[in-house]
Amino acid sequence: MEPRKVDIGVLEEKPSWLLHPRFFPSKIGGKPSWLNLQDLPKSSELLCKKCQDPTVFLCQVYAPFEDVEDCFHRTIFIFICKNGNCCSKNHTDNFIVLRCQLPRTNDFYSYQPYEEKDEEFPMDNWTKLCDVCGARGPAHCSRCKKVYYCSRKHQIIDWQKGHKEQCPQLQSGDIVSTNNFKITKAGQSVLFKEWELIVDEEDEEDPNNTDINQEMEKLNKMMQEKKVGSLNNISESELEEYTRTVPNDKVFNKFSKRVARHPEQVLRYDRGGVPLWITSNNDSLVHIPKCEYCNGERQFEFQIMPQLLNFLDVGVELNSIDWGVLAIYTCKASCNKGSAYMLEYMIKQDLSD
Ligand SMILES: [Zn+2]
Ligand SMILES: [Zn+2]
Ligand SMILES: [Zn+2]
Ligand SMILES: [Zn+2]
Repeated sequence: MEPRKVDIGVLEEKPSWLLHPRFFPSKIGGKPSWLNLQDLPKSSELLCKKCQDPTVFLCQVYAPFEDVEDCFHRTIFIFICKNGNCCSKNHTDNFIVLRCQLPRTNDFYSYQPYEEKDEEFPMDNWTKLCDVCGARGPAHCSRCKKVYYCSRKHQIIDWQKGHKEQCPQLQSGDIVSTNNFKITKAGQSVLFKEWELIVDEEDEEDPNNTDINQEMEKLNKMMQEKKVGSLNNISESELEEYTRTVPNDKVFNKFSKRVARHPEQVLRYDRGGVPLWITSNNDSLVHIPKCEYCNGERQFEFQIMPQLLNFLDVGVELNSIDWGVLAIYTCKASCNKGSAYMLEYMIKQDLSD
């Protein structure tokens, strides 16, 4: 049997403007590159289910369905709460997954692809965006009325990080409000570091490749040195314990062997396939709920790998944000029966139990 073709995603630095919505990027961190620019999720829909703080954009994957007219453009978005206390093993209450799609002819973008030029594309023609995090910004600064926010929390951060000085200048017209896709100082303190996510076919396994064992060893070592995220939470002794007591976790062995082909991968895309699980310790996989909009089946679409944690610059206070793999399940038909941004389903699998 032909082995399944899987696409994998790796990260590259890119200037922010090239990750603007009109280029339909897959990306990590920075502001969300919204697809539908009008009917954004309400601020209340982007709150952490645990602490009720606004979640922060983690990543998006551009994944059109070529054969479905209204999925000519299609993007899956993932948001996460940055509060480490909200992160618990095998639970996803601190995540939000949204799907959005558009036909080729739509209200926002031209029919033909855009040239890669840094030109004006004012997104607030459709909806005001939070100057800090890029989510919908229903409230504005009451003094200058030029800058918008998703929440009181982000308004306060922005005031402290520079709006206090800018506000009078905006009022007097000395400066004009900035391009709302740029990342401000306040944004830098709230958002994850921004990267382009480049998705390409995984190399096939080369049976003559003796490097694979070497790569596997490297990966295991990286994990032990906590350079691979999934183990942020576990002390070294726990990890050694795990490797000693569960040497026969076949799933983990398969995982590290497969990952060793591209140790730096942060995404595996395999629509309709099965996730590459990280461990066989697994209770959460019993039941994938049906699409809540069309009542149709959901299918596996992609997974986020623990390596991504290395690229996020999460900072010391965020050490407890953690995952093994994040497996995303989406409506098989990619229906268009809900709002512009529709909720999809995630399973989080952690290595230790
Ligand atoms: Zn939270
Ligand atoms: Zn905000
Ligand atoms: Zn102001
Ligand atoms: Zn559906």
